[in-house]
Amino acid sequence: MIIIDITSILLIMFSAVILFILISVFITGKYEKHEYIKSSYALGTLINLRAIGRNAEKAVDEVLERLNDIDDKMSAFKEESEISKITVSAGNKAERVSDDTYFVIKKALEYSKILEGTFDPTIRPLVKLWSIGTKEEKIPEEAEIRTAMEIVNYKDVVLDEDKHSIMLKQKKQALDVGGIAKGFAADEARDIFLKHKIKSALIDLGGNIFALGCKQDKTPWKVGIQNPFNSRGDFLGILDVENKSIVTSGNYERYFMKDGKRFHHIIDPKTGYPSESKIISATIISDNSIDGDGLSTGVYILGVDKALNIIEAIRGVDAILVTEDKKVYMTSGVKEIFMLTNEEFALIHK
Ligand code: ADP
Ligand code: MG
Repeated sequence: MIIIDITSILLIMFSAVILFILISVFITGKYEKHEYIKSSYALGTLINLRAIGRNAEKAVDEVLERLNDIDDKMSAFKEESEISKITVSAGNKAERVSDDTYFVIKKALEYSKILEGTFDPTIRPLVKLWSIGTKEEKIPEEAEIRTAMEIVNYKDVVLDEDKHSIMLKQKKQALDVGGIAKGFAADEARDIFLKHKIKSALIDLGGNIFALGCKQDKTPWKVGIQNPFNSRGDFLGILDVENKSIVTSGNYERYFMKDGKRFHHIIDPKTGYPSESKIISATIISDNSIDGDGLSTGVYILGVDKALNIIEAIRGVDAILVTEDKKVYMTSGVKEIFMLTNEEFALIHK
């Protein structure tokens, strides 16, 4: 009898200790999900990653490795990249490429078609002439611009699905996927996070944002839309989003001023000059970032009316467009989730 009693007392004491430990772990939050934040530099831009989950650190490191891998394959500045190899072989032979590069070019060409050639992955000769954002930036000679424009044509990109190869038809043609690669990279980052069971993360590739899941407190992520008239960090409005990509192409990121005029890095293939549509910032909200990135660059050039019509017709994709006269236009799908916070701007309902 006595032995049984001692055993029960020990059992009760043991259970009490376990309960105490569990309660203290809960209170001190040791079991709370782990948040990991890291900044780095890749794809020619500042990268900010924020992931919440037990494998956050491992997942973030894997994402950074993947971003560098994408940069190695797709940079127009690295001689060994697949993009550079296609450029070197222009007018001569096709180059076999990885699934990644093939996919990005295929998508880029889809957007060129949808956006009436405003987005064009063969824009490189013009981008190089202007060299905006580099030490060589300058207003090129008229004649140079005309010569470069002659070889900018997305219809000259030949894809061979069987051989998985890409060729540029004419000599001197050159590829630039700077307007779409970050979107692809953001989608890859999201997939790596999902593989590591990260249900909440904010992926920021130089302003190309993917909001995975929702915040730790279960409310949507709040993403600010940059005020194009001000330097970084000043927003004109806020978007409430879950599992969405938010990509903005703006004239305020890379540009130079000459005689009071702004020359920015989004080049209109039809004029050879930085786009002069009245849009100064084009944001695309979509499920996949490759769509957002590809579309935002072209939409910027297309101008408000065409852009709204085209984006409204694409299911699951929305746009917020800001014009130089401080008007904000948007497609129907974002009206519920976008809040204009800066009174200097006017919302225009179309
Ligand atoms: P960012 O990369 O600065 O976030 P974008 O996605 O709009 O902005 O891409 C701009 C880049 O795309 C330019 O730096 C250039 O490399 C390339 N680019 C410029 N004009 C065009 C165009 N008309 N079509 C496709 N790519 C372009
Ligand atoms: Mg883009």
